[in-house]
Amino acid sequence: MSFISGKCLCGNISYQSFAEPEFTANCHCTDCRAATGAVYSTICFIKADQLTINGKTKTFQHLSDRGNTMTKHFCPTCGSQLFGENTARNGMIGIRAGSIDQIDKIKPSRQVYISSRIPSTPIDSELPVSHRMPEN
Ligand SMILES: [Zn+2]
Ligand SMILES: [Zn+2]
Repeated sequence: MSFISGKCLCGNISYQSFAEPEFTANCHCTDCRAATGAVYSTICFIKADQLTINGKTKTFQHLSDRGNTMTKHFCPTCGSQLFGENTARNGMIGIRAGSIDQIDKIKPSRQVYISSRIPSTPIDSELPVSHRMPEN
């Protein structure tokens, strides 16, 4: 059985899931870069009802380039960003992969928003590339 868990930097927010990630992407969009402070973000998408979150996150909402409402969840104490939701993907939640304990479960299947990539950021030549986030 699959199991993933993770936590923020201070440990006040943690999570567990028995779901297999449905889709994992390396996202180079400007929103992910600004939100995480990293040059790109790896996101594991799982079904939201299969994720158990311990602790109360703070949220920030903004619009995507397609006009969808994006909700970022972060720890109110240490600021680690852990989850993201998108109204275009109802029922799914994206976990910031850097917070996941089981590093062998982090297997990106594509790299998205490649047109926003910082030129010095390496890309994986084995993975398919999209200019935006695929619709599903
Ligand atoms: Zn924290
Ligand atoms: Zn992104």
